[in-house]
Amino acid sequence: MAEIKIIEENEHFLKLEISGFPKEIVNALRRTMIAEVPTLAIDEVLFTENTSSLYNEYIAHRLGLLPLKTNPDPEFLANLSIDIQNGLIPEYRSDLQLRAECPPQAGKSLTIYSSDLKSLGAEEIEVVEKNIPLFKLGVGQIVELQAFARYGIGKQHAKFSPVSPVSYSFKPVLIFDKSKEFNCEEHVNVCPKQCLEYKDGVLRFTDAWECILCRACEKDCKTGATKISWDESIVRMTIESTGSLPPKVILKTAALILIRKLEILVSLLEKKEEIISEKNGSNQSVSKNGN
Ligand code: SF4
Repeated sequence: MAEIKIIEENEHFLKLEISGFPKEIVNALRRTMIAEVPTLAIDEVLFTENTSSLYNEYIAHRLGLLPLKTNPDPEFLANLSIDIQNGLIPEYRSDLQLRAECPPQAGKSLTIYSSDLKSLGAEEIEVVEKNIPLFKLGVGQIVELQAFARYGIGKQHAKFSPVSPVSYSFKPVLIFDKSKEFNCEEHVNVCPKQCLEYKDGVLRFTDAWECILCRACEKDCKTGATKISWDESIVRMTIESTGSLPPKVILKTAALILIRKLEILVSLLEKKEEIISEKNGSNQSVSKNGN
């Protein structure tokens, strides 16, 4: 039976144990989270003044990579993703402004942080981390710009991806053949993760999830009593968010996007079937008339 257990969770991190799902579905979810969940990011920057030592492009690139807080409604995001993939440009656009100056009387350079970006729109846009250094200004230098944020997906540019890593691993399995038992107490110590124990004549994991599948124990077992494998029906998935969206919202949105895509596929198939049956119907009437 399919089951999901939360192993670890905080604002930006989620570790899940998923059992009973085909690995292909787990991988489809992972890929959708990386490439298809829409996220807000700065996409255009208009400079009105830049007397710093950095090119406009350099500053614009840094601004583009700033994670911005995104609307955490999975339904809204899933529909938006399908629209973007169908070539529709989201209407939503929000403006931010930055004006920074290092006054001559400061006597030393000034660091400009992400918190110096101010939202201009009615709907406030917030940077995830307020203390990200953007650039430095020398004495007397000024930068003034307007930045425009919009929704995009990771397929278009990595800055629109709401996750840094999303990974999963299968549950390690230890197969121990008692009849070939040999020197087990010693080869417990070859494990770099110290996750093996030999007790009452049986070699077992102390914690299977600690095993990194390096097979050092298997190689060290000269009689072939120890074999390492994995169970593909139990996976642990780790989702690390950039902070734009909570990890659970990212996962739920990815699942909705996959469902929407399957619904589109089914409706396309139904249309095709209708066309084929219409064609068959007209062919039959032509042949009757021909007779
Ligand atoms: S495969 Fe490597 S990590 Fe896993 S139990 Fe054997 S020695 Fe330890």
